[in-house]
Amino acid sequence: MRDYIRTIVDFPHEGILFRDVTTLFADPRGFRMAVDRMLTPYLGGRIDKVAGLEARGFILGGAVAHQLGCGFVPIRKKGKLPAATISESYQLEYGEAVVEVHDDAIEPGETVLIVDDLLATGGTAEAGVRLMQRLGATILGCAFIVELPELGGRVKLETLGIDVRALCA
Ligand code: AMP
Repeated sequence: MRDYIRTIVDFPHEGILFRDVTTLFADPRGFRMAVDRMLTPYLGGRIDKVAGLEARGFILGGAVAHQLGCGFVPIRKKGKLPAATISESYQLEYGEAVVEVHDDAIEPGETVLIVDDLLATGGTAEAGVRLMQRLGATILGCAFIVELPELGGRVKLETLGIDVRALCA
């Protein structure tokens, strides 16, 4: 899996090793392998919606939802969704970010899998978890291609009782 992912040094800031999954998405075998491995743990269970975190979580989440035969819900950055939304903010290294979801995107009691390309500090995924929980979802877990364990995202989510799966570190 790691061989398909390109690392860009000092992007978007000095000191950041950016894990560029566009090279994985562009490879037919790599993309299929990633989607198949992400969804395998959930085969046979009840799953109503996949919620994807903007933007690379849309690409993965759409493919996972299609393959599982369930719906897809976009969790977007502030100001992008056209209908009524609920929002959650979270801390970035410098400042704050806000993510939103349509307030009718999930029916209470629906089971949801949250998907993104990469887990770093876990702030983005935690905000997604809070949005889904406010809509009454039962969260099956959060699935990523890459996790950066040293940044603590897994611990943050598991402390909230969320199952975390990543295909590589
Ligand atoms: P975090 O909220 O800190 O877990 O950051 C996760 C979000 O930021 C994901 O949507 C990732 O796409 C992006 N991200 C954070 N760090 C990196 C990195 N080193 N390489 C690629 N994407 C990253």
